[in-house]
Amino acid sequence: MKHLGAIHSIETFGSVDGPGVRFVIFLQGCRMRCKFCHNADTWKIKEGDTLPDNLLQKAKRYRTYWGKSGGITVSGGEPLLQIDFVTELFRLAKEEGIHTTLDTCGQPFEEKGEMFEKIEKLMEVTDLVLLDIKHIDQQQHKQLTGWTNENILRFAKYLDSIHKPVWIRHVLVPTINDDDRYLEKLNHFIESLSNVERVEVLPYHTMGAYKWKELGMDYPLEGIDPPSPQRIANANRLLHTGNTEFQNSKE
Ligand code: SF4
Repeated sequence: MKHLGAIHSIETFGSVDGPGVRFVIFLQGCRMRCKFCHNADTWKIKEGDTLPDNLLQKAKRYRTYWGKSGGITVSGGEPLLQIDFVTELFRLAKEEGIHTTLDTCGQPFEEKGEMFEKIEKLMEVTDLVLLDIKHIDQQQHKQLTGWTNENILRFAKYLDSIHKPVWIRHVLVPTINDDDRYLEKLNHFIESLSNVERVEVLPYHTMGAYKWKELGMDYPLEGIDPPSPQRIANANRLLHTGNTEFQNSKE
């Protein structure tokens, strides 16, 4: 049975969601409710209408631009909510030697049962995982996203246990998760993992606030400004990212 994907949008020349130049597919549907989300229009869960083969054919038109390090990235929304579709897409991509990256918040992860079996299958055809850790404190994570971070940290540990290369990404939000205590605790967790190739600090921005208003919702972080260059540098230092320059954020 073919699984159809519900696609929100496509970026043909992505440069921030994985190595090199990438064809980035943003899937529709997310259960998290991150207060800083700049893609609130991806939340609604919809019926799929796109075949993995057709999407891959479209992506391959850009293959000459990918060079040695580029490829395809599936982002969201939350791609694990359409895991059958993503697995099929990545399986087809791997048959053609294309680099595959999964950009996820990890929340749908389960340690056993059918979902775990599906995740194992997906990992067989995934080269790199970009894993967002929104807040290291469980309760604060719940306040920020509507869910605790338990599953997400378990997913990080599972990825470590199978030696899957991971980039950890952390959206830095003033007054919420940029306190040194939290950053140090997050660093401690990251250092307990042996598979993290890169850590990225993504400065919070307000460019998606208008979407909340268009969807008839109040923007929950009204009045919170993006972090200063000093706070960004501080987070980069505490998380040992190796970055000293300002970097544009995805979320
Ligand atoms: S930031 Fe990502 S995980 Fe959070 S609500 Fe938005 S799409 Fe979902």
